[in-house]
Amino acid sequence: MDLIEYKAKEVFKKYGLPTPRGLLVRSASDINSIEKIAPRVVLKAQVPIGGRGKAGGIRFASSTEEARSKAAEMLGMSIKGFKVGSILVEEALDVGKELYLSVTIDRGARDHLIIGASEGGVEIESLPDEKLIKVHVRPLAGLHPYQVRDIVKKYPLSTDQQRALGDILRKLFTLYVKEDATLAEINPLVLTKDGRLIAADAKLSIDDDALFRHKEYEKVETDLTPLELKAKQKGIALIQLDGRIGVIANGAGLTMATLDSLELYGGKGGVFMDLGGTDDAEMVREAFLLLVEADPSVILMNLFGGITKCDTVAEGIKGALSNLEKSIPTVVRIRGLNEERAREILRDAGFVPCETMAEAAKTAVEMERKLGGR
Ligand code: GDP
Ligand code: MN
Repeated sequence: MDLIEYKAKEVFKKYGLPTPRGLLVRSASDINSIEKIAPRVVLKAQVPIGGRGKAGGIRFASSTEEARSKAAEMLGMSIKGFKVGSILVEEALDVGKELYLSVTIDRGARDHLIIGASEGGVEIESLPDEKLIKVHVRPLAGLHPYQVRDIVKKYPLSTDQQRALGDILRKLFTLYVKEDATLAEINPLVLTKDGRLIAADAKLSIDDDALFRHKEYEKVETDLTPLELKAKQKGIALIQLDGRIGVIANGAGLTMATLDSLELYGGKGGVFMDLGGTDDAEMVREAFLLLVEADPSVILMNLFGGITKCDTVAEGIKGALSNLEKSIPTVVRIRGLNEERAREILRDAGFVPCETMAEAAKTAVEMERKLGGR
């Protein structure tokens, strides 16, 4: 789970990391007066993606009016596909130098990895290896003082600033371990003209498998749509794309292949879900109901009865879906044991059964075209 910047900064603050003074706003009128923050502020679009600067998601303002009008422009705009719903208004830092510092997992080495660089503000991937400071930390041993000293010495900073950086590194590492993070990154770590080190940006990814230990993140905003979130809470893998054809398949591979087939025939996948190995009628019904909430114009079901018999699955689908309020044209391709019988059942229930994936995808695309403009 990736935390959005303002949330990551709240966690940073909890661990005593220096962050800029700021305020989260969801409308321009939330900005009463920038004076309480700073005479000059930076407005930062809260979207779960980097490179906001170039995309118009980072702007500066020197008066309350200017901040309000820029906030109004930014709210609702789309940055790399993410709609801006909130803005972090922060004191603008007087940047002397931009540095980089992060802690992440090196799975290959089975260790934690600290990465530092005296050039920040750019994507770390774009820096050549010789500019990176890399130090592995063994999970059982933890971060040793000598490692901290080694790292901070490589930054061209004064002794006091190196000491401050060491403090930041220790706190960042503690945060990373205690919060079960897979990445804790400060980019840029700003050295202000008056010599202070401040985390101008914050990126924090929490290990999904450790979320049971961190109930505080349950209600946190993510990049999921409300429907995706609802599905997630029910344990259903559902994703919303911007096409109009809803897809239900079983297994991640088959689901991806189905979306690709739609593209091949000139269509576009909309909301899609992976049923996994289930043939539980109640689960199928729930999944279908969720899919319907996304209002697809056509539904394409692509199921492979591996262990379960296709006719049993078909009966399940039929039974589960017969009492839906709204009917949406549904193309079904189902393969496996007793597939002929399954197709008969589905045809009788008003579905459009197909034999091959290609035929099903083509049929779904054609149906969607005919319904076009809906
Ligand atoms: P990202 O590009 O989405 O990762 O957003 P960042 O928060 O890292 O900001 C991008 C860039 O905007 C930084 O590298 C800085 O150059 C600049 N920036 C961000 N905050 C400030 C600030 O308070 N003062 C100044 N002068 N520049 C800032
Ligand atoms: Mn950044």
